[in-house]
Amino acid sequence: MNIDESQLEELRDALEVERNTLEEELGGHGRVQSTTGDWQGNSSGLEGTEADPTDAADQIEELVTNVPLVEELERQHRDVVDALKKMDTDTYGICEVGKEQIPIERLEANPAARTCIAHAQ
Ligand SMILES: [Zn+2]
Repeated sequence: MNIDESQLEELRDALEVERNTLEEELGGHGRVQSTTGDWQGNSSGLEGTEADPTDAADQIEELVTNVPLVEELERQHRDVVDALKKMDTDTYGICEVGKEQIPIERLEANPAARTCIAHAQ
């Protein structure tokens, strides 16, 4: 691994924040949430973005296209948790497909990335 310590700590912080956010989202929706769309009315996850309607609209669009919503959140949560586990076992930042080092720029953009760009599906 050729990520330096301070970069790794920043990425770990970002992952922990993301994990907490996802856990709040998942807690708010529950596993029985339907995917018919009424989550928009009571989503606690979007409250913080009300000041920026454009971002909120983008989020809604993104989430609606990723049906079912809860499975998508669980997938993201799993990626984040796995990335944190990899940090503890010194395997963080290694492409799961080709086993090569993922560029730091990609990890900074997406700390939970499992693969390099070439191997992203
Ligand atoms: Zn790769």
